[in-house]
Amino acid sequence: MVRIFTRILFILASAPIFAQEPLKEDLAPCGTRGVSDWLRGYKARPPVFDRSEDTLWVALQPHLLARDNGSGRIAAEKFINSFCQLNEDFAASNIQFYIKNGWNLLNETDWHVHSTIPEGIEMMLTNNVPDALNAYFVADPAGNCGYNLPYAGVAIGHSCSGTNDHTWSHEAGHALSLPHPFIGWEGKTYNFSVPTPTWLTYDYTHFHDTLETQVPAPLDTALVEFVNGSNCAQAADLICDTKPDYLSYRWECDAQNMSPIKLKDPNGAEFYSDGSLFMSYAMDHCQSRFSPEEIAVMRATLLTEKSNWLTPVRLEQPVEEQAIAIEPVQDQIVPPVGAYFSWKPVPNATHYLVQASRFASFSFKQVDVVTTDTFLTAGLLSPNLQYYWRIRPFNDWHACAPFSFSETFKTSPLSAASEPDADGWRCYPSLLSAGAPLTLEIPDAWHGTDAQCSVFDAGGRLIWQSNLLLNAPRITAEIPSSHWPAGIYHLILVSEKGAKRCAMVVGPRI
Ligand SMILES: [Zn+2]
Repeated sequence: MVRIFTRILFILASAPIFAQEPLKEDLAPCGTRGVSDWLRGYKARPPVFDRSEDTLWVALQPHLLARDNGSGRIAAEKFINSFCQLNEDFAASNIQFYIKNGWNLLNETDWHVHSTIPEGIEMMLTNNVPDALNAYFVADPAGNCGYNLPYAGVAIGHSCSGTNDHTWSHEAGHALSLPHPFIGWEGKTYNFSVPTPTWLTYDYTHFHDTLETQVPAPLDTALVEFVNGSNCAQAADLICDTKPDYLSYRWECDAQNMSPIKLKDPNGAEFYSDGSLFMSYAMDHCQSRFSPEEIAVMRATLLTEKSNWLTPVRLEQPVEEQAIAIEPVQDQIVPPVGAYFSWKPVPNATHYLVQASRFASFSFKQVDVVTTDTFLTAGLLSPNLQYYWRIRPFNDWHACAPFSFSETFKTSPLSAASEPDADGWRCYPSLLSAGAPLTLEIPDAWHGTDAQCSVFDAGGRLIWQSNLLLNAPRITAEIPSSHWPAGIYHLILVSEKGAKRCAMVVGPRI
């Protein structure tokens, strides 16, 4: 059987050990500022009450940035985890995101690490697709964990993504009209010992609703919200069920997810900030929710000014089942070059993340590939070692299925020679004229075994495969090389006895 057209979509060179990525603790929580004109308008008129309980399906276009040479992109597993976390965070809102047009892989060092917001604007306006929330995953989004540009999209830092990180949900909240509950306090440090002002000014250059309104920003003004709720619809985030919060730095919460430090409003009324809100700057483990009014604002945004992001029909159902490995399993022997993996199709899955590692923890991965097939031919693995491998199914609408149980395999020792090797095995001629058969000399120990015979080209691609019964000391393999381009090929024979490799050169056809 020939299995050469494996549709590999995404390959990673493995963990970015040497990547210079800023750590989460070195990044500001968020660069976003401002209150949208849409939200001011929504609050000024009696809000349209959204009676629908329907799930709103929102188009999302991810752009995954790497350096010019393709290195440093977010790991596929981490991106899938981020997407799963986003939809889990929005589940209570009945807002769910789907990936509109696959993962856009971009290689651009200057965007992968950009130090200024205008560079991010350029990145987004160059690459955005219409009618979707465009989300850019970069190593460093201008010194922040993330930011949202109302007219362009959101940027998320690699170190602020993955399971249990709510940065993407926070930025998506901004994209759906939510301000920070502490708006006005960004860049300022609250101090209990001085009187709390009744209003604050802030600079929201770059964060206006449109690029055209980016006048050199006069400072905007935010009223400071009172504890008694008397100005909640005009102050801070304009949202009444997010109580006052003046904490604009990353803060740790107490067991009730409230701030350990006490604050007081301009009237002197004391309170604690609520860290359970995704739109706060509390640590990720404190955050678990959008408030009911925040949810109403986000849904109203989607039903009005962002209705072009919605799709009426869910096209793919959740992936509920784990994948099951077919081969190799239970320490099965595979060749170090061109190992073949296969697994059972999982209902509703359109993609599979396949990983192989020397370590049961998968801390360092030799195979880390996304494919739409249910099989994969690996490149080069180290010979004579045990490996673990696993599969994770997903689709563009659901990416929360777990990995399969890990299976194990062993790579065979390699021996390649045109001379008989220590076992008495050899193949010849090493220079094949196109279409000529190859002779294999089989040592006694291998007699009677069934072997899988595979031929790979110089790029490691499987181009031919067949089973051979090794029933004689010398057998002739009819290799269909008459159709192959001239070049170097590797024949790999795998049986229960081990694996053998034979290099051969197919000469030009005359
Ligand atoms: Zn923010």
